[in-house]
Amino acid sequence: MKKKLSIIIPAYNEEDNIAHLVTELDKSLTATGYDYEYLFVNDGSKDNTLGELKALAATHPNVFYIELSKNFGKDYALKAGIDLAKGDAVITMDADLQHPPHLLPQMLKYWEDGYDIVYTYREDSNPHVGNFQKFGSKLFYKGINALSDITLENGISDFRLLDKKVVSELRQITEYEIFFRGMVKWVGFMQIGIPYTPAARHTGEASYSFFKLVKLAVGSIMAFSVRPLYIATGLGLFFSLSALLYIPYIFISYFYGFDAVSGWASLIATVAFFGGLQLLVLGIIGSYLGKIFLQTKHRPNYIIRSTNLLKPRNDSTGV
Ligand code: UDP
Ligand code: MG
Repeated sequence: MKKKLSIIIPAYNEEDNIAHLVTELDKSLTATGYDYEYLFVNDGSKDNTLGELKALAATHPNVFYIELSKNFGKDYALKAGIDLAKGDAVITMDADLQHPPHLLPQMLKYWEDGYDIVYTYREDSNPHVGNFQKFGSKLFYKGINALSDITLENGISDFRLLDKKVVSELRQITEYEIFFRGMVKWVGFMQIGIPYTPAARHTGEASYSFFKLVKLAVGSIMAFSVRPLYIATGLGLFFSLSALLYIPYIFISYFYGFDAVSGWASLIATVAFFGGLQLLVLGIIGSYLGKIFLQTKHRPNYIIRSTNLLKPRNDSTGV
């Protein structure tokens, strides 16, 4: 029996890309000789992405979709796809054709050779990314590598192949905050990375703004009642930095002789600095406490509003 691939594609406002993507992928995938299915996850799109998916599913027996109840974010959309995919291998990729389908044969070759995870990372010379964004992304990867136990390549992407053993492990993970690229590294197994140069977006705009990226990077703006904890961090930073301004004041007042009470400025500077530092540390502790609070609620990572997964499906694994 032929092995089957599940292609998971999160889609947020991608109405003009979907049909084109399926046409492009069909070309690459039919040549591989595997059975395959597309599993689109409509992540609360505000345009006609769902309509496009329904139309495509009506004519293509191997097009499936999951409609989430709102916009949960790409990582959560990916988790929904991972939870419901049935292939012997899963391939996750973006809907905007930035992930080049021509890499698929090479990824499949590595899989056949026994690798469980074949991931891709953007080459540094990527012409579609500005210098500021490159700098931000470098800073993010430097930070996460320094602060955590995993090592992520600069520009590691969500275009990857996962064997079904890895998929079943990823399903066990029910963390409140999902960062897929990290999780995939963390699970271990036999991994190999391929560098690639992303194409330009087919149509539409990237939906991650600067602020959305910062929010993702810090892993935060956890709404509900966790925000005050972050305010403590902000206040701490503000006061410790403003306390530093006392240092030039101390010197200036000393040399120009308008130092009223000796020792006063340095004392205030010290008090303000340590006060700020304490708030900062309290804020950090609070942020972690907030994450524990949200985790203990055991809310689902995503909610499905509708799907056509119930239509007959060529299933080789019986999962
Ligand atoms: N995406 C999603 N939910 C979101 C934002 C994006 O499912 O809230 C999808 C989007 O449709 C695309 C992929 O994630 O398939 C990558 O998004 P985008 O192209 O906006 O980001 P970038 O190319 O900058 O990584
Ligand atoms: Mg993109």
